[in-house]
Amino acid sequence: MTAPHGHGDHLHAPPSDPTASRRPRPPKQEQEQASEEIVEVAPNVIRMQLPIWMPGLGHVNMYGLLDDRGLAVVDPGLPGPNSWRTLTRRLRAAGFRVKDVHTVIVTHSHPDHFGSAGRIRREADAALITHRAFTTWSLDRKGHTLSETEAERIEQEAIEEAQSYRGPSFEELPTLRAEDDDFTTEHQRQSVPWGGTVPWGGSRHPDPPFKQRVRMRAIRLMFSPPDPTRRVRHGSPLMLAGREWQAVHTPGHTLDHLCLWDAEHGVLLSGDHVLPTITPHVAGSASGDSLRAYLKTLDLVADLPEVRLGLPAHGHPFADVPGRVAAIKEHHAERMDHLHAAAVVIGPASVERLSHEVFPERHWGVMAESETFAHIEHLRRDGLAERWDEGGVMIYRCAPIP
Ligand SMILES: [Zn+2]
Ligand SMILES: [Zn+2]
Repeated sequence: MTAPHGHGDHLHAPPSDPTASRRPRPPKQEQEQASEEIVEVAPNVIRMQLPIWMPGLGHVNMYGLLDDRGLAVVDPGLPGPNSWRTLTRRLRAAGFRVKDVHTVIVTHSHPDHFGSAGRIRREADAALITHRAFTTWSLDRKGHTLSETEAERIEQEAIEEAQSYRGPSFEELPTLRAEDDDFTTEHQRQSVPWGGTVPWGGSRHPDPPFKQRVRMRAIRLMFSPPDPTRRVRHGSPLMLAGREWQAVHTPGHTLDHLCLWDAEHGVLLSGDHVLPTITPHVAGSASGDSLRAYLKTLDLVADLPEVRLGLPAHGHPFADVPGRVAAIKEHHAERMDHLHAAAVVIGPASVERLSHEVFPERHWGVMAESETFAHIEHLRRDGLAERWDEGGVMIYRCAPIP
C-alpha cells in the first residue's frame, strides 16, 4: 500500500520538493477559528471562545467561573460591536445575561484580553480586576463616545486591515512600560506601543504593526484599556467559581501579566504566560531584565504544587504545564545562543541591527526589536554583552565565550 502523503512518509520525501514550503500548514490550535461549543473544562469553569481578528490568532478563550451569584469572566475578547454580539450570544448559550457577570478579570493589557471588559463593567456594574501594574494607556477616550454605527464601521475597517496584514502574530505586541511600581502619567504615555521612542533608542515606530495605517480613531476604539476597579498583588486571594484562587504575577509577556491559581483542583488560568504551542512574545523593558522575570515566573508556575491543568487564553486546555514551560525555556535558550553568536560576528550593533540578524525580514519592526532587546539585555546582565550609548541609541557588543 502506498501512502505518499501519509504520516511518517516525510522521511522519504525528496529533499528538494519545490512545493514543500508553499503548502499551507495546518493551523496551530491557537489559530483555530472560534468554536461555538461551550465546555466545562474544570469544576464550575466553562470555556467560551470569541473570534479575534488579530493576525496569527483565531480566537481568545473567555473563561466563565460560575458561582451562586452568577459568573466571573476572564479575558472578554476584543472591543467592538461585532465582538460584543458574539460575547452576549455565548453568554446566552451558557444560560447567562450580561447582567449576571459580577466580575471581569483581565490577565494583561493586550486588546484581545481587555477589549470588552469596560463595557461589561458599565452594563453589568461588574468589578474589574487586573494586576496592579495594569497599563491604562493614556490615549484619550473619545473612542468610547462613538456612535454604534461609527464604531461598527471602524471595527470593520480594522478587521479588513488585519486580514491584509502579513507580519508576525499580533500576540507579539509588546507593552513598553516602566517598572511595576510607577504609575505616573508620563510612564503610561510612554507605554503606548506606537508613536513614542523606544527604550533601546533610535528608531521611532509611528505606525501600529499593520500593513496599512489604521486611523487614530480606530486605535482609540480598539486600544483604550478600561480602568480597573481593583488592582491586585501577587498572592491576593480571589473568590471565584465558589472557591479561593490566588493571583500569580507573571511578568514577561507584559509586565502586568496575571495568572490565576486554584490550588484545590490544580488549575492554572495561564493567560498568555504559557500557551500550548505558540511561544509567547517577551517584551523588552528599559527598567529591568524582562526575560529573567519571564523565565523565573515560568518556573514559578511549573513548580506550583500538583499543577494539573493549564487553561490558556488561546488554544486548548493542556495537562503538562511543567513540560510546556520546559519547551518555552529551551526556545529562549536557543534564541539567546543564536543572538550571541550573531552579535559576536557582526561586532558593535544597535538593537534594530541585531534584530535583523535573528529575525526574518517579514518580522522586522518594533516587536522583533522588543524581543531582541529583552534577550540582549539578559545577556548583558549575565556579563555576556556590553552596552554603551551612541547619540541616544544603545549599542551592544558581545565577545566570544572563552
Ligand atoms: Zn498578550
Ligand atoms: Zn493574547
